[in-house]
Amino acid sequence: MNHKSAQTSVDKDWYLQDVGSILAHFKVSADQGLSSSQARKRHQQYGPNSIQSAGQRSIWQLLLAQFMDFMILVLIAAAIISGIFGDLTDTLVILVIVFLNAIIGFIQDYRAEKALEALRKMAANSARVRRDGELITIPVEQLVPGDIVILEAGNIIPADLRLIEVADFQVDEAPLTGESVAISKTTQALPGKVHALGDQINMAFKGCIVTKGRASGVCVAIGMDTEFGKIAALLQKDTDNKTPLQHRLTRFSKRLSLIILAVSALVFALGYLRGEPPVLMFLTAVSLAVAAIPEALPAVITVSLAFGAKRMVKSNALIRRLPAVEALGSVTTICSDKTGTLTQNRMSLEKILIAGKSYNTFPEANDATNDDNEDFWRLLGAALALNNDIEIDGDGKLLGEPTEIALYLAAQQSNYQKPELSRTMPRIGEIAFTSERKRMTTVHRVLQSLQGAKAEKPEIIAFTKGAPEVILDLCEDSLGENGRQPLHKKSIRQAVEQLAQQGYRVLAVAYREWNNLTPNELKIEANNIEQSLSFIALLALIDPPREGAQEAVAMCRSAGITPVMITGDHPATALAIAKRLGIAAEQDKVMGGEQLAQLSDAELKQAVLETAVYARVNPEQKIRIVESLQSHHQFVAMTGDGVNDAPALKKADVGVAMGKVGTEVAREAAQLVLLDDNFKTIVVAVREGRRIFDNIRKFIKYTMTSNTGEILTLLLAPLLGMPIPLLPIHILWINLLTDGLPGLALSAEPAERGVMQRPPRPASESIFAHGMWQHMIWVGLLIAVLSLSSFAWMNISSSTHWQTMVFTTLTFAQLAHVMAIRSERDSLFTLGILTNRPLLIAIMLTVALQLMVIYTPFLQTLFKTQALTLLELGVCSALACVVLIAVEIEKWLVRRGVLY
Ligand code: ATP
Repeated sequence: MNHKSAQTSVDKDWYLQDVGSILAHFKVSADQGLSSSQARKRHQQYGPNSIQSAGQRSIWQLLLAQFMDFMILVLIAAAIISGIFGDLTDTLVILVIVFLNAIIGFIQDYRAEKALEALRKMAANSARVRRDGELITIPVEQLVPGDIVILEAGNIIPADLRLIEVADFQVDEAPLTGESVAISKTTQALPGKVHALGDQINMAFKGCIVTKGRASGVCVAIGMDTEFGKIAALLQKDTDNKTPLQHRLTRFSKRLSLIILAVSALVFALGYLRGEPPVLMFLTAVSLAVAAIPEALPAVITVSLAFGAKRMVKSNALIRRLPAVEALGSVTTICSDKTGTLTQNRMSLEKILIAGKSYNTFPEANDATNDDNEDFWRLLGAALALNNDIEIDGDGKLLGEPTEIALYLAAQQSNYQKPELSRTMPRIGEIAFTSERKRMTTVHRVLQSLQGAKAEKPEIIAFTKGAPEVILDLCEDSLGENGRQPLHKKSIRQAVEQLAQQGYRVLAVAYREWNNLTPNELKIEANNIEQSLSFIALLALIDPPREGAQEAVAMCRSAGITPVMITGDHPATALAIAKRLGIAAEQDKVMGGEQLAQLSDAELKQAVLETAVYARVNPEQKIRIVESLQSHHQFVAMTGDGVNDAPALKKADVGVAMGKVGTEVAREAAQLVLLDDNFKTIVVAVREGRRIFDNIRKFIKYTMTSNTGEILTLLLAPLLGMPIPLLPIHILWINLLTDGLPGLALSAEPAERGVMQRPPRPASESIFAHGMWQHMIWVGLLIAVLSLSSFAWMNISSSTHWQTMVFTTLTFAQLAHVMAIRSERDSLFTLGILTNRPLLIAIMLTVALQLMVIYTPFLQTLFKTQALTLLELGVCSALACVVLIAVEIEKWLVRRGVLY
């Protein structure tokens, strides 16, 4: 659809115009936003807010790609040429088989693309907008010009916006300008005429990152009309999403192709020397090459990974990049946040500590005994009600951080209501919370004193809350129930330590006031406001461990994975929770951020092996921890949610972001998103990753062994003085039947018993490790020998059906093999024959098709087969069973530790 551009050339200088005229231009009010009908019309008019991406394949390209393999083209050409000189039916049958093969390939690819597209859609970002006067969340694609968009730290800006309100708002515009310094933004119209993008400080551009603060803006351009859209072609990301395994297998199948081509040439030469017709031998050799070259391996892996990823979403693990599925199986260390991941993030205020006294709740305003006392509790109530970024959505639900919600609710229950207090003490500024600062401050103008009287002089008050040690350092004195007092830092620190050791999350609250100052005279900056504070109280919150977290930690241990806690919280709190969950042992110590900062890289490298809990850690320190672990060849999964966690998530082998509380920036940097923010989900994903990898290994083992069997059958026959044992159509048919359905059904195989009781597979380990090579060679040889032994049957029974028997034995032997390798170690009878139904159905279908080819007269002529007697069919089945028994013996030896 051709959509109209939202901009005209004159209107492009949004940064030169004042907010009022822009709002008028877009016919929108800042506090109401657009109406739903306006938004609907504009969506129709301007289209979706999306960047058109290159590189997506159409259905036709996907279908055509199935034929674009060199050997397939040679086969088609050879079949046509041989049809012209000889048997036209042969040519037709070959073309039909090649076509059927392509259709199967196409269906798989198509389903994989759909699965990936569904994952991409789930991972898409959303935007918060004001519409019909209410704050709602919509998919980014539905933004329209004129929408009022609300931004906060961690957002990726969803469209080009002219800012109308900012609070300590900073943006990283590196995605657009390459300049990665955070830029502070304003709302005033800029003077002058033309400004470069980097100087348009009242604009926020699509694709850039909000690093700090909050803002709202009116959407002036969407999709390809945005500055980002204009250079989108230049920014097209690297579309190579191949996994390390795929890269390795692509290289491997290229090398193997050369060997197979050489063997095919040998088969041709030997047959020719034995006096077989050269055209037939050529077609046989080409068919063999087509059947045996595993060029589809990388594609099959995409399919397995994509379907695995689709399954993982059901367990709340959303894969953002396909290689993660494979990488998950190799994870050796999981570094996890505490709050919300290992704990419920459902906080409640349990204790308030004031000058050594502990209260369980607020005394009601009128319970206070004397005036001083009353004033004190009012001040604390106001601090808790006002010092937060809580918003209330249309349904009355509280939106915001759980820590803040807990404090807000405690204040509300004692009748300190934010809406009322905001009227008498409106907020005039804010110094935002960041993980590095570990505190936040709100500044308020006091229009009416807390006692209810109209304030006589203009007064300004600031509330600061945050990590106790940080707040204490900024305090000068303290306020108690009996007025101002000197500050006893030591006893407060002791109290913090005691509470933290019990697993409480402890916060401190302080305040400061200014008299005779107008708001314009006060510079709202951290080093101006957050000093000489008066300490008010310590707050102890509880945040219980998540259900199942303890079991998940235990599962990690049995799977050879070390769980590590990295938190911004207090060391004693962290250690208490870590012990409760089994992450730390009784004698374990915790490493604090300050201590970590003093360690050299070499010292840290030594320390990481003995440390299970890190506390008060900054996001940058997380990178050092990952790097140190990686230097010990650990394969690290690391969780994160904040803006500054993104580099550590990228550095980790598997970056894990939170789906609920995490920022978009963290999600964008991660490979895995936990839709329920739960630690247990990572462990479930690891288990699934191991299962998928095991099944890929089984698929490779299966096809490669089958191919070896086919090659050896054709190669050994002339060496043993036998005539050519299989016709080209037989080779292609076996390839179509056995590789197709049963091979794919292997990906439905349930996880091996004990999949989480064995150590992780080293990421660098070859997929062919643990005896795969040996297996492929000896079982391939066995299959070939068994198939050719039907030739001996001909001598015994003087039957003329030997070629059909070789054909059938080869097919059945592959089916027996696939059943035998369902587990790498366990016997089929321990697993239960019925535990992989798709595979069972695939096998029955394959047998039925094979019988049709043998017994239907029409297909007999096409495939040049003869009806086997019941005895002959029994012989073929018995020979196939030998493979099953032999592989069962192999697994028995593996279980006993004799083999591999
Ligand atoms: P985790 O890293 O496990 O998620 P965390 O929530 O404690 O734990 P941060 O979000 O980095 O980590 O917070 C660090 C510290 O900052 C907290 O321990 C707390 O003392 C303080 N803090 C957290 N949230 C706020 C807030 N909204 N306002 C003020 N201080 C806060």
